[in-house]
Amino acid sequence: MPEDTHHSLKVEMIEKCRLLEKMGYFIGTWGNVSVRVPEGFIVTPSRIAYSVIDPSDFVTVSLEGTVVAGHRLPSSETEIHRVVLARKGNTGAIIHSHSPYATAVACLHQNVPVFVEDMAQIIGGEVHCTRYVPAGQHRKIAEEVGKTIGEENAVLLANHGVLCCGRNLEEALVANQILEKAALMMMAAGGRGKVIPIPEEFVTSERNRFLYKYGTAKDAS
Ligand SMILES: [Zn+2]
Repeated sequence: MPEDTHHSLKVEMIEKCRLLEKMGYFIGTWGNVSVRVPEGFIVTPSRIAYSVIDPSDFVTVSLEGTVVAGHRLPSSETEIHRVVLARKGNTGAIIHSHSPYATAVACLHQNVPVFVEDMAQIIGGEVHCTRYVPAGQHRKIAEEVGKTIGEENAVLLANHGVLCCGRNLEEALVANQILEKAALMMMAAGGRGKVIPIPEEFVTSERNRFLYKYGTAKDAS
């Protein structure tokens, strides 16, 4: 029964899309998610409201960009997901949203520096903004995103939105929430000139603490 492949994953994707819509990070179908699977990745389809989407509507695409399962058209922004999943082997899931404060920073073509500890832990570095590419040029946007994102778990798409990564969908969602909160704080503090970034060495140590020690006895100090 190929329709039932990764059924529970698709159910989780639907739940997250509906939640993101409720949070105001997705408006209508403007926003999409992907999750890595052995065949490549599962991505949300194009032009179907998340209120009526069904697990059978999802599309599976190979890391080379070929549709391998599903009868619908994949999201028009699939190429952005593909490039990041191909490039970042430790990324298991991606959320592309238009969350308002982070998008506001993307409209200033500014980066979000690491100035609060949850950004160091979850995002793992300064979030950079791409050069501006018109919304319809999906391949060009994907290329810019691929060039701009590094080890950190997020990137801003100039005058467009954000892309957040995680080892799983839950972590990608938290990354989007942390980035949105940091962007809100940055705007509240009056822009990048007023916030003081956390020194680089601590960004790395906080990230490593979260990855390898968080919630274990080693994290006691
Ligand atoms: Zn978009």
